[in-house]
Formats: sequence, C-alpha cells, structure tokens
Amino acid sequence: MTSESEATLRLAAGRVLAGDLLPYLRSGLYAMVPVVTPLVPECAIDSRWRIYVSPGLVRKLTVEETAGLWLHQLSHLLHQHADRWSALLEPQDRGHLYTTAADVVVNEILHGASVVLPPARARVRLGVPGAHPGMTTEQLYRLLVEALSAARPRSDVGPPDDCGSGVTGGLRPWDSTEDPDDGSVDRARAELIRRQVAKDITSHQRAMGDVPAGLLRIADEILTPQVDWRRELHSVVSRTRATVAGLRDYTYTRVSRRASAVPGIALPVMRQPRPPRLDMVIDTSGSVSDRMLAQVKAELRVIARTLRGDSVRILACDAASAQPRRLRRVDDIALLGGGGTDMRAGLTASASLRPAADIVIVATDGDTPWHHTPPPQNPRARYVVLLLDGDRCDVPAWMHKVVPGII
Ligand SMILES: [Zn+2]
Repeated sequence: MTSESEATLRLAAGRVLAGDLLPYLRSGLYAMVPVVTPLVPECAIDSRWRIYVSPGLVRKLTVEETAGLWLHQLSHLLHQHADRWSALLEPQDRGHLYTTAADVVVNEILHGASVVLPPARARVRLGVPGAHPGMTTEQLYRLLVEALSAARPRSDVGPPDDCGSGVTGGLRPWDSTEDPDDGSVDRARAELIRRQVAKDITSHQRAMGDVPAGLLRIADEILTPQVDWRRELHSVVSRTRATVAGLRDYTYTRVSRRASAVPGIALPVMRQPRPPRLDMVIDTSGSVSDRMLAQVKAELRVIARTLRGDSVRILACDAASAQPRRLRRVDDIALLGGGGTDMRAGLTASASLRPAADIVIVATDGDTPWHHTPPPQNPRARYVVLLLDGDRCDVPAWMHKVVPGII
C-alpha cells in the first residue's frame, strides 16, 4: 500500500470516529473534501472546505488524534474564521497571530467536548496573558498583538502554526486552484451546511442535553441572522428621524392662521420637522484597531452629514480623564490607547446635555460596565452600541447592539 493510500484510509477512519464522537457535526464533517498531499507541512484547510493533510502527519497520529484533527479544522469553518479575518482589515503578516487566537478558541471548545487533539494543535491553549475562556477570536487576537508589541521579540513567538487559507485567506502553495467540481464547497453551500450543523446541534441538545457550551454558542451565532451593520446603523438613525419628524409635524403651541376661521378651536400647525439630535459617545481607550475605527468613523461621518451638523455632538471617553471630552468633528476622534474606560461616564454626560439627544450611538470595544437602565436624565433617547471588537453578551437590553463585522 502506498503511503498516500494508507493516509487516506487512516483519515477516513478518523472521520468516522469524529462523527461518532460528535454526531451533530456529521453533515459538516462529510462535506469536507480530504486531499492527501506532501506539499502541506502538516494539515490545513482552504475556503472550499478542502482539508489538506501530509501523509507523514497521519502516519504518526492515533485514530483518536486524527478525529481531533478533523474536528479542529471543521470548527474553523463553522466559525467562519477566514471571513472574520478579512473583516478585521489587519496586515497579512499578522495572520499567524490570528491563527493562534483561532486555534485557542477552537481547542478550548474541543477540550470541553473531551476530544483528543493531535500534539501539534493541542499545543495551542489559553496561554495568552489576560485571556479567559469564552473570549472571541478577535479579542484573543488583540491580546496577542498587544503582547507582541509590549516587548517580546518576534523569535519568541515560535514557528507560526498555519491552518491554511481557510483561516487567514490568501493562497497556499498546496491549495488546489483548479477543478471546482471536485465536490468542494462554494460560499452558498457552505452557508447551507453551517445552518444544517447548527440545527443538528440544537436538536441534539434538546434530545440529549450534552452539547458543550462552545458548540451551542456556534449554533446560536449561525442561526442568528447576519445583518449588514452599516444598513442596520443607518436604519436605526432614519427610524429615529421619522419618529422625531412625526412627533413634531403638528404642534398646538402656536395658533394657526386659520384658527380665526374656527373660533374657539386651536388648530394644529404644521411645523418644519427638525433633524434628530444625535450624540456619539466614542471609546478612545480601547484595543480597537485604527483601521476598524477608520471604518466606523466613515459611517459616523455619513450619518453626521445626513443629519445637520449642529444636531450632532461628539463625546470622547478615555481612561485618562474621568470627564468625557467634547469634540468638534468626527475627524477629531483619535485613539489614545490604554484600556478599561467606563462608558457609563460618557452616557451620563450625554444624558445631561440640553437639548436632550434623540439618539445616542456608543462606539466601544465593550470592555466597560453598563447601567442596568437608560440614564434617568434622558430615558427616552434611542441608544445604540457599536461593538467594535465583536459581540458581547453583557450589553443591557435597552441598548440596540450593532456589531460591525463580516459584511
Ligand atoms: Zn487551527
């Protein structure tokens, strides 16, 4: 038997075991297309759900570890790691840090499911300073970038782990570029498979109740409809504009000229609707990337232009000063670095301003405590939080969450 056909058999055995261990992931596992090739150093995936494995690696692994390898790579695909990496707009030479962060997330979940991982992949665990379980890939990535820029020379990072273009995009030397009819998965089918897996996870949980928390979270993310965050943000603003205009269309405060024709009855007068008043509360201390902030500033600039300039106020919150600072223009927003600001100070400052804002947009990485209820000085405004570093579960329900991301 050639080493490649032996590797193919071993891989097949690993996939069967993976499906036995976590049966609700089977439709994902069997959509993946194995490619045994000596070109890949160990194991990698591409965006078409091909899993490339070196024959040398499979020979060394037990069948349990091979099952772990399948589940590790499938988890990257379920997490949409490649799309999320491109949404971060980070330099490509930091891809290995992102892969490490993604591996930490994936391995944490698989350990929770008692999956045995191959030695190379199992090496990557939660050894990042400041990391805690349940963090998103993006949050862990930021921690790794900070740790790297803090002092450690590059050589300390060790050889980059590469899980392939299915995690950090681009094209690897082993990636298959021809024959898209090899059963590999295009974008539309990938979405269908992810949804099928998510449904299988939730129905298994209903029947057996033994799905690890990390996998339930993935299912939840997949089944939550993806929205275009820019469109969502703009639609909240225009809904507020319509409400404000509707409230102000008619007023009884001045007597209409027609009132003289109907003695004793005050007729409502039509008034020019005013633009909604907007406060932007910006966290300038977070670990948000400059490019992500630039993207958000561009959207805020569009919103500020569509409203009238004088109805927009900008408040910058940073860790250094307890009092939020008023800025004149969106372009004046600059990151000051440092962490741990309290966005409640910004919200309270906005709520105390008069005239009161109709809509308050808070842009933050989410590393902040929140009020349980809207600020009492302005409880009627519509509050929106732009979570610049991925979704957070601790945002109170009175704030409308918008997560800039993949779309
Ligand atoms: Zn990986």
